[in-house]
Amino acid sequence: MKVLVANLGSTSLKWRLFDLSGGTERMLHKGGFERVTDYPKAIDDCLAQLKDAGQIDSEQDLAAVGFKTVIAKGLSGCVRLDEGAVKAMEAFNAIAPAHNPAYVSGVRLFAQRVPQVPLVGLFETAFYQWIPEAAQRYGVPEAWFEAGVRRWGFHGASHKFIAERSAELLGREDVANRARRLYVDSGKSAVQGPPLRVISLHLGGSSSITGILNGVAVGNSLGMSPQSGLPHNNRVGDLDSFAVPFAMRALGLSLDEVERQMCKEGGLKGLSGVSNDIRDIDAAAKSGDARAKRALDFFVHEARRWIGAYLVQLNGADAIVFTAGIGENRSEIRAGICSDLGHLGIELDPQVNAATRATEAVISTPRSAVRLMVIPTNEELVVAREVKRFLENI
Ligand code: ADP
Repeated sequence: MKVLVANLGSTSLKWRLFDLSGGTERMLHKGGFERVTDYPKAIDDCLAQLKDAGQIDSEQDLAAVGFKTVIAKGLSGCVRLDEGAVKAMEAFNAIAPAHNPAYVSGVRLFAQRVPQVPLVGLFETAFYQWIPEAAQRYGVPEAWFEAGVRRWGFHGASHKFIAERSAELLGREDVANRARRLYVDSGKSAVQGPPLRVISLHLGGSSSITGILNGVAVGNSLGMSPQSGLPHNNRVGDLDSFAVPFAMRALGLSLDEVERQMCKEGGLKGLSGVSNDIRDIDAAAKSGDARAKRALDFFVHEARRWIGAYLVQLNGADAIVFTAGIGENRSEIRAGICSDLGHLGIELDPQVNAATRATEAVISTPRSAVRLMVIPTNEELVVAREVKRFLENI
């Protein structure tokens, strides 16, 4: 069974082709285009590359195209992306202006180009369908909640990967199995051992932290929109809601301009004044740029704040896992986040941490009660697995 997973940006198209026949999980091909101006051509070129590489003879060889869709009104989980689902995504474009419009137009283009191939989306909100009700709420009038003003949570594919993989690495096959079967039986598979408490840190261009109990999420630092929680590369992160009307009045900004600045000029870029990439910010901080250093300090501070929240919600942690571009590659950021937490049984091994990059590793000392781990994420594989399950159950 060949599943193409397409990652759609407003000016980028990236893909991975998986073969999930039998019990195998093989990635057959990966590629992508940046600075895309002609999206239909980019889709044609993607399919041509798959044919040239000998991976498919025709589009009919694709069992499905899978998408890591973000959010839709009234829909979550793994669903067929028919026009109704696309309209439901469109209805929530304003919640994810940096992400949803690209999926809305991209999925429609795929539907035109490969009408005979099922298009299936795994929503980033899917992993949070079972979080406690108190963790879903904001203090707003009920009509706001019903309109969609609630904590949804995002990065579901990545945190689900970490839920499964961390349980496997910690020798908890029962919990790994519950995480694997989450969308089949709503997290009801039996767990034999003591509770397994994992805090997953997806730190990258977008960042979020999730508490996971026995393979099932209890909450996510991303709230109603993927602009919340930790500061992102250029998106704002958590902000007092009264800052928006205040900035509009005090700075004379229109609503559209406020939205643009919160999506494009905020986060690490806005704080540092240097770049939206932590490599550049780090280089500037090392050469004495005070704003760059402050941006890094703030990022670490916010990550610790969310770890604290989930340590309480989970009544401790068995493991804290770092993943994504920053989590997998930036040992100084990991060290900052884990510093001075000995009283909580959290102790980093500085040498192992410094030597760990983009590979699975335990980076805590042997006596640390909480296991600190690096696990490279694989969001596309999670999408492909759920698409396969979806196809097998229709
Ligand atoms: P996205 O969320 O867009 O997929 P990534 O997960 O790749 O992005 O994270 C991007 C961030 O991670 C950037 O700030 C970048 O500096 C950092 N990063 C990514 N890869 C590396 C690397 N190999 N070495 C150091 N930093 C990296």
